[in-house]
Amino acid sequence: MTKQNVVVPDVKSGINDMITVVPNASLFPSAGQKPPAAPGGYIGISRKKFLKKLETGGGAKVNPWVDSMKVSSPTHAKSTPSLSPNVDQIESWILSHPSALNMFEQIMAASKGKQIVMFLDYDGTLSPIVDNPDEAFMSESMRRAVKAVARCFPTAIVSGRCRDKVYSFVRLAELYYAGSHGMDIKGPAEGVICSKVNQPVLFQPASEFLPMIDEVYKALVEKTRCIRGANVEHNKFCVSVHFRCVEEKKWGALAEQVRSVMKEYPKLRVTQGRMVLEIRPIIAWDKGRALEFLLESLGFANSKDVLPVYIGDDQTDEDAFKVLREKGLGFGILVSKIPKKTNASYSLQEPAEVMLFLHRLVEWERSLRGQSRV
Ligand SMILES: [Mg+2]
Repeated sequence: MTKQNVVVPDVKSGINDMITVVPNASLFPSAGQKPPAAPGGYIGISRKKFLKKLETGGGAKVNPWVDSMKVSSPTHAKSTPSLSPNVDQIESWILSHPSALNMFEQIMAASKGKQIVMFLDYDGTLSPIVDNPDEAFMSESMRRAVKAVARCFPTAIVSGRCRDKVYSFVRLAELYYAGSHGMDIKGPAEGVICSKVNQPVLFQPASEFLPMIDEVYKALVEKTRCIRGANVEHNKFCVSVHFRCVEEKKWGALAEQVRSVMKEYPKLRVTQGRMVLEIRPIIAWDKGRALEFLLESLGFANSKDVLPVYIGDDQTDEDAFKVLREKGLGFGILVSKIPKKTNASYSLQEPAEVMLFLHRLVEWERSLRGQSRV
């Protein structure tokens, strides 16, 4: 196994030693999870099986990925009642993943004596999902809410986007940013006081893949040019192929083009998000590892005195939810209107509810500070 580069290992981290290439990693990082029984869940299959399935023609019936994308598409679910979860499924899911707003008091009760650390995904969590990924702007009111939260607690944005891109949307220098699915981590801008950590944080475990990512990006742009609506986004350490503006009948063809490029790159893997295929290096690093790294950077390695709260809406956020569940630390909150198989403990329906939750967090912290002054 080959150790990856740590660009600026300013933070003393035992995690650094664990970053390794995984030559034959499965298609999805959490492929050990069983496929869901209910609609709206995720399908985990091996890279080999994935490529083989696509080789059979990319049709909806033989392509579990296209099927899964159809299920996760709100417009498709509306037009295909059989794919929509029924009332019983929704009620059962809400019982096991209650609203974080309804359970706010219980969540806060668990934070007694602990430092809350906030982790926020961007697309679909702080901003609405839009057709053009370049226009996924967050509202001013959401920006104010995140800013207020960051004044109370260390706060990180964890996104599949390129770090610079997500920063250009959020524009708050006091936050930590983990772009490219956690493969590009940077602490708050110098001079911004927001935590006890004085040293700068910059961590890029996949830097040696940069030339390969550039190459695959160009190949994907070229190969998908003929498919109307296909959008290939360069996210520095990974590449996203967006399906949102592609006619559904062309999804199989687009997947086939991705497959034809990816078969030349065994060191890269494909994961599926919401109407998107993500291409990234096969290294043992994901949003869950980024969460661990940031907690360690903040001085909470192996600490029980911390309550991380991670809010996200996508499959890649599951890696972070899983870390929290396995460590018995904090809570994952899934943003979703439909039942999904998840390791999150709670749910919120949409970004508007995320904003309400952030407001309540700030109010709660302020009232606690007020009490401590009396
Ligand atoms: Mg998201």
